[in-house]
Amino acid sequence: MHIQRPQINEINLLAHAEGKITVLGGPSVSACPQHYPEFDILHLGELGDATDRTIEYLDCHTARPQQQIRFQSKQRLPLSEFPIPAYHLLDLNQYFLANIQFSSGCPYRCEVSDIPELYGRNPCLKILQQVIAELVDARSSRLLPTF
Ligand code: SF4
Repeated sequence: MHIQRPQINEINLLAHAEGKITVLGGPSVSACPQHYPEFDILHLGELGDATDRTIEYLDCHTARPQQQIRFQSKQRLPLSEFPIPAYHLLDLNQYFLANIQFSSGCPYRCEVSDIPELYGRNPCLKILQQVIAELVDARSSRLLPTF
């Protein structure tokens, strides 16, 4: 995801120009937070205690902080407890494609990949009912075509 860094930082500039607080999470910033010094809040690591603290912070603050704030996940939420993404909030016209996550982590160690480092070498899987629920939700949000 590092290849998207220029666009990520451009979005941050556009948001700041409108006076908006900005939050960044995901693989690129989790691996290299030093690449994103201009963002107001960094969410580092997978869904977990950092996510709760990020949401708690945003519930109480709408203005930009004086300094960058970093929330680092120390306790990851089990994949089987991941909530269904809010697909209904997506503007599909803005997306070339979309995907559904069903696993996290990887047992291999390809030298080009930071996935095992970021998400562990013990793969976790969502349960079947979770994946089906997400597909149904995505379809009802018109994320998937109906046949
Ligand atoms: S280490 Fe990374 S690139 Fe290699 S198989 Fe796992 S996820 Fe894929």
